[in-house]
Amino acid sequence: MTKQSAKTKHGRDRRDARRPGRAVLRFLGATQTVTGSRFLVETPHARVLVDCGLFQGYKKLRERNWANFPVDPASIDAVVMTHAHVDHSGYLPALMRAGFAGPVFATRNTVDLCAIVLPDSGHLQEEEAEYANRRGYSKHSPARPLYTEADAVQALQLFEPVPFAKTVEIAPGIHAEFRRAGHILGSATIALHLDEVRTRTIVFSGDLGRPHHPLLCPPQPLPAADMILTESTYGDRLHEDAASIELFEQALRRTSDKGGITVIPSFAVDRTEVILLHLRRLIRAGKVPNLPVYVDSPMALRTLDVYRRALAEGSAEVKSDFQGEPDPFYPGRLIEAKSVEESIAINDEPGPAIIISASGMATGGRVLHHLRRLLPDPRNTVILVGFQAGGTRGRRLLEGQDTLKLLGSYVPVGAAIVNVPAFSVHADQGEILGWLATAPKPPEVAFVVHGEPASAEALRARIVRDLGWNAVVPQNLERVRLS
Ligand SMILES: [Zn+2]
Repeated sequence: MTKQSAKTKHGRDRRDARRPGRAVLRFLGATQTVTGSRFLVETPHARVLVDCGLFQGYKKLRERNWANFPVDPASIDAVVMTHAHVDHSGYLPALMRAGFAGPVFATRNTVDLCAIVLPDSGHLQEEEAEYANRRGYSKHSPARPLYTEADAVQALQLFEPVPFAKTVEIAPGIHAEFRRAGHILGSATIALHLDEVRTRTIVFSGDLGRPHHPLLCPPQPLPAADMILTESTYGDRLHEDAASIELFEQALRRTSDKGGITVIPSFAVDRTEVILLHLRRLIRAGKVPNLPVYVDSPMALRTLDVYRRALAEGSAEVKSDFQGEPDPFYPGRLIEAKSVEESIAINDEPGPAIIISASGMATGGRVLHHLRRLLPDPRNTVILVGFQAGGTRGRRLLEGQDTLKLLGSYVPVGAAIVNVPAFSVHADQGEILGWLATAPKPPEVAFVVHGEPASAEALRARIVRDLGWNAVVPQNLERVRLS
């Protein structure tokens, strides 16, 4: 069935029948939590979903992935996507399974990264369901995946790449403008311009990058907006870069001196690149020994290729200092474990060595096998380099739990656990406020989303105090009238 006929058959008729009478914004995810980004904009003429993310972390959040979508997915005219991370993109195949027929608008690098991330997400879900069935530890009988790798591959057909800085009509009466967010390659803040509605322009920050990302250009300033939705992952803190990098360096040296292995659970997209850039610099400066560095994640390795290509093409998203660099991601002794055999062979590595493996919050992926093997030994170290959402294994390690449930068994934690938040590719409180302050006029209201309650509230209070704006932390499923 072609995309158009699917739309006509499942979409257009139901869509006409269910058009909302007035324009509203609905918060369908990422309220007082950092996952499940989904914001629905409805006008009398169209329905558009901004981001289509998977809920992760606490079970009660993950269960939302299985709930019926609040509106008929077939009635959604378009999805616009800020970037490729699964908490912003990973629900798309499920939405498609439930009747959404496209299109999905995203920047070209987001489309390319989604082609890596979404099938991997489907594969992981199939694997987890299969593993749960084999070990009999699922409550569902039999456990089933939310969607499969094949579903994800099919969902890729729905994408339509859009350039930065050009306004495109994405649905009747709704135009979208993508600006660089500097968070990962392809990441954008999105301004939706609505015709015939009182609230004319809504800006969605997506995940906001840092002005000093080692590789990517900083976020672009905001356009004039009537409403702004801003992320608040680190809304209550400031990154201490120099101190963090010092910690990273010390942890690597200490582990190497003991002959141990450092495991770095890493988000495959962008974080692996940031870690490799730092490792290369530290190794070249002689601050860290030239150890074997394993990247054990097929997804991270394919992502690395997308980054290398962007560098080679002189992408405008990349800082000019890297233009012409053949491979800034090569620390000295890089071993790329693509196949399962190459991954298993890492078990023979006596150490000292460094293993970078997905997923970043240890919610799945090959890193679980390394953690199961290496966590009990006090010579080893686990370095956590990104935000660890509540309910994830990464968070439990950070909180000092002495055993960790992994792959159906309990593993004692003997290894040192080190937190290096400076490698975050999320803006901190001051950086978010700095970006908001670029708005040419105050919005009617700023909604603080994509942050756990304390972070969201801290950022809200600072927006009110420092910028003098109205700011609100919305509730899950809250609706706001736009007309
Ligand atoms: Zn992100």
